[in-house]
Amino acid sequence: MSDCLFCRIIAGEIPSSKIYEDEQCFAFKDIAPQAPTHFLVIPKEHIGSVSEVTAENSSVVGHIFEVIAKLAKEQNLESYRVVSNIGEQAGQSVFHLHFHVLSGRDMTWPPG
Ligand code: AMP
Repeated sequence: MSDCLFCRIIAGEIPSSKIYEDEQCFAFKDIAPQAPTHFLVIPKEHIGSVSEVTAENSSVVGHIFEVIAKLAKEQNLESYRVVSNIGEQAGQSVFHLHFHVLSGRDMTWPPG
């Protein structure tokens, strides 16, 4: 989608701190980190959020979790949180499916 920020990052039209890319997904550092480690993993295909995951497009979600596990191992993350916000009330501000990976500080539960 030409007006989607994350589609434009994938296309290289907007710069990002890329940490990983393959044919299905793209990972980059969050521009406003909420923890010492904070990166995002997104599908290359435009999916608006978890609420748009279907039987037809869900395989990329499993792939993204494989990539998260691989990147976490490579970065020696012993404890980390994976978050996906769905909808404005939950805190979603970019409407392209993304998984936040946060690590390196104590985190509260339940989240605020
Ligand atoms: P959410 O609020 O869950 O939709 O998450 C969107 C995330 O994208 C936020 O944590 C933002 O800091 C991050 N973000 C927005 N613009 C950029 C950008 N140009 N590069 C990297 N991260 C971004």
